[in-house]
Amino acid sequence: MASHTTSQRYLSTRGGSYDLSFEEVVLKGLASDGGLFIPEEIPVLPSDWASRWQHLSFEDLAYEIFSLYISPSEIPSADLKDIIRRSYSTFRTQDVTPTVTLDEKRNIHLLELFHGPTFAFKDVALQFLGNLFEYFLVRRNQSKTGRNREHLTVIGATSGDTGSAAIYGLRGKKDVSVFIMHPHGKVSAIQEAQMTTVLDANVHNLAVDGTFDDCQDFVKALFADPEINKTHRLAAVNSINWARILAQITYYFHAYFNLIKQKSFLPASIIRFVVPTGNFGDILAGYFAKRMGLPSERLVIATNANDILHRFWLTGAYEKKPVHGREAAGGEPGDGAQAHESGVKETLSPAMDILVSSNFERLLWFLAYEVYSTSSDPQSQRRAQAGEHVRSWLNALKSDGGFRVDEHILDAAKADFKSYRVSDAETLDAIKTVFTSISPGYVLDPHSAIGIAAALRSAEDEEAKPPSGHHISLATAHPAKFANAVHDALQGETGYAWEKVEPREFKGLEDKPRRVSHVKKSDGWEGVRRVVVAEVEAELQAAERAGE
Ligand SMILES: *Cc1c(COP(=O)(O)O)cnc(C)c1O
Repeated sequence: MASHTTSQRYLSTRGGSYDLSFEEVVLKGLASDGGLFIPEEIPVLPSDWASRWQHLSFEDLAYEIFSLYISPSEIPSADLKDIIRRSYSTFRTQDVTPTVTLDEKRNIHLLELFHGPTFAFKDVALQFLGNLFEYFLVRRNQSKTGRNREHLTVIGATSGDTGSAAIYGLRGKKDVSVFIMHPHGKVSAIQEAQMTTVLDANVHNLAVDGTFDDCQDFVKALFADPEINKTHRLAAVNSINWARILAQITYYFHAYFNLIKQKSFLPASIIRFVVPTGNFGDILAGYFAKRMGLPSERLVIATNANDILHRFWLTGAYEKKPVHGREAAGGEPGDGAQAHESGVKETLSPAMDILVSSNFERLLWFLAYEVYSTSSDPQSQRRAQAGEHVRSWLNALKSDGGFRVDEHILDAAKADFKSYRVSDAETLDAIKTVFTSISPGYVLDPHSAIGIAAALRSAEDEEAKPPSGHHISLATAHPAKFANAVHDALQGETGYAWEKVEPREFKGLEDKPRRVSHVKKSDGWEGVRRVVVAEVEAELQAAERAGE
């Protein structure tokens, strides 16, 4: 076969870049036209996938799936296998992402994604991304020494979960430094300890005396700064990086194979995946799995009070702030969520507190591609048209705070997805009901609880009812990361004790030595730039002294 037909290339959702390699899209993160990278083709599964993949380990399954998106001419198979093996050897369970049945009566299963180093689902992607960065850099640096070596400076902002997962994904990686800003005193004690107790020389925590929005503004200013871009190669690890989406496809297949081996699963059964959703990255991986051919009737979006996606599926309008009046579908009165000045509401599930979902843009591209053109149109024209639609929608989001799609696009979106919005009160209730009656003793974190609350509602649907309906709900974090919500829900319940929830790895973590630099908000992004430049320089000099 000509390598041309098997090689996977990437394009930007806004039409400005085509024909990029996997390495280019991973190192760049965001396209130069402001769009996100997607594969030119969603690969189709090999015809014997169901039998051939059924008994594969998580790692081998990941290899099969990644191979459909990464050409062997870019990463030879032995290298890809090695990257995968190293990425998942840090997980605490052999199965990497096990599935447990939570509710036998209603066929509700939980896909546990929190067995990685930081106890959050983001580890699945960031362990892989860290190894990919290192692999590409070391390869580029093969015959280079000292200051000629390419060095990557990863910069990110976090309100909690992403930061620690990125730090654990990148710690100790050659030719890579990582700087993570967090708002000082505004992340949970355990999350702060997880980040700042990592003492590897290439890990730099910056505590900013400001809000998460200030941290994000600093990141944006640095990426836009010509001066630092002249001297440093900046990279991002946020959820728009294509490699993160790719890495998350594996567990949809893995969970499917786990489920079909169970007695309760019959040939006529249907499957819904339920995903606690913020930036739309996790569920987008499910969409790719479905489009590749994984049997799933629908993907269920579960949001908290930050419900821009839920409102879109109700009305076809994607708006930062719901318009008041008839169509307003914003926070329910009494759902307890506090609105921030940026418009984001603070909820019990902070990792899903977003105003807009960046990865939604990728879905919009595929919807526009399918709805506004047919397979008889020339491919290049179809792609260009989809890019134009996405560009105009996203421009409207920026200038007017929102846009509306027509009914054809909305119908296409509804064919693959359903959505539910879950309040804080319902979140606490789901934690409590699961612990006391559905699966006695099982403790959910508030994000996973949003998934279960949505699954319980979806399981009442005619099309998805038991016995033929099965729900696989994604558990995105370990309950010990969100102590307050768990206490609120379970305080005083028989059999509930924090010592049983808290993993061994968290005990004593808060007393360990820390390293963190402080930045005053008044120092501005230039202050952050000074710290980044000085700390990278110190790191490079230390490496030179060590003779690297
Ligand atoms: C990041 C995160 C989510 C949201 O995932 P998206 O890919 O942003 O939709 C949900 N739960 C937890 C615990 C997270 O850390």
